[in-house]
Amino acid sequence: MSFLKFSHALILTLASTLPLTSHAALDKNEREIVKQVDKNIPQALKEIEQAVNINSGSLNIEGVKKVGALTSEQLKAIGFKVEWLDGSAFNRAGHVLAAHESKNPDAIKILMIGHLDTVFAKNDNFTTYKQLDADTASGPGVADMKGGNTIIITALKSLQALNLLENVSIKVLLTGDEESSGRPLSLSKQAIVDAAIWADVALGYENGDNNIKTAMAA
Ligand SMILES: [Zn+2]
Repeated sequence: MSFLKFSHALILTLASTLPLTSHAALDKNEREIVKQVDKNIPQALKEIEQAVNINSGSLNIEGVKKVGALTSEQLKAIGFKVEWLDGSAFNRAGHVLAAHESKNPDAIKILMIGHLDTVFAKNDNFTTYKQLDADTASGPGVADMKGGNTIIITALKSLQALNLLENVSIKVLLTGDEESSGRPLSLSKQAIVDAAIWADVALGYENGDNNIKTAMAA
């Protein structure tokens, strides 16, 4: 993935979670957010590398759990309440569900969706994060979607640092079986269905090809 694109995606993420009054120019708050994001990007890049270097093919239960534990710590550090939803009943590792509840009863409810697993099995030869040039890296799941998970966490960390999460309620659901769904689906999809019913807005952070015409809206 391109780090430049990563940075743009992060800013888009922040923009999409806040009401924007103007598209023409950034207001003071937004400029503060951009500064905060810039500050957090070196750490974000380290966190992608760390997650990518843990194999988490959907059927590598221990690996998916390890990535779950890593993201759980990162979300706890921002002040989220984090639960591990065990997946043994549907033959997969499980999901991370993190929540931040606003004290404001009218706060908008936003669901942010990522996934912990990749298509690269434990015995795959493609195992490591590799910096290709200043702006590009490769690795198993670097774009699909450990990069997206890091965008979620870095966006929240940046907003939290600026006390901008007070009037928004957020759930982050990182599923452990996106690439290969556990069965029965009624159990493996229960968390995402429940979260969707709860949410006013749901945002998925899986990457695309930068063409709005091919963006997934479902
Ligand atoms: Zn994906």
